[in-house]
Amino acid sequence: MLLDISNIKISRNNFFVNFILKHIVKKHALVIWSNIYCLREFLCPALIAHELVHIEQFKRYGFLGFIIRYLYQHYRYGYLNNMYEVQARAEADKFIEYAREICEKNKK
Ligand SMILES: [Zn+2]
Repeated sequence: MLLDISNIKISRNNFFVNFILKHIVKKHALVIWSNIYCLREFLCPALIAHELVHIEQFKRYGFLGFIIRYLYQHYRYGYLNNMYEVQARAEADKFIEYAREICEKNKK
């Protein structure tokens, strides 16, 4: 599945988003549909490539379809063994060039 990276938005300086990432989800980045929310200090191609796999998963299963599947996996198997996280780790490399492009566009 090819991603149209022109529709992907990266948010990394939003106080509210940073608070959620640091204190609630406790991750460096989070994907909601085509938006990647990322802590500024962790913006890098490897992380963005991983998040692009999650965007692909959102497109495959639909907005609610993916959230429900993801949360079920998280509840049942935990973060590391969640099949969508396993897949994102395994397939991130296929998006590394897109991820470099996105990081280049988003760095200041
Ligand atoms: Zn992930």
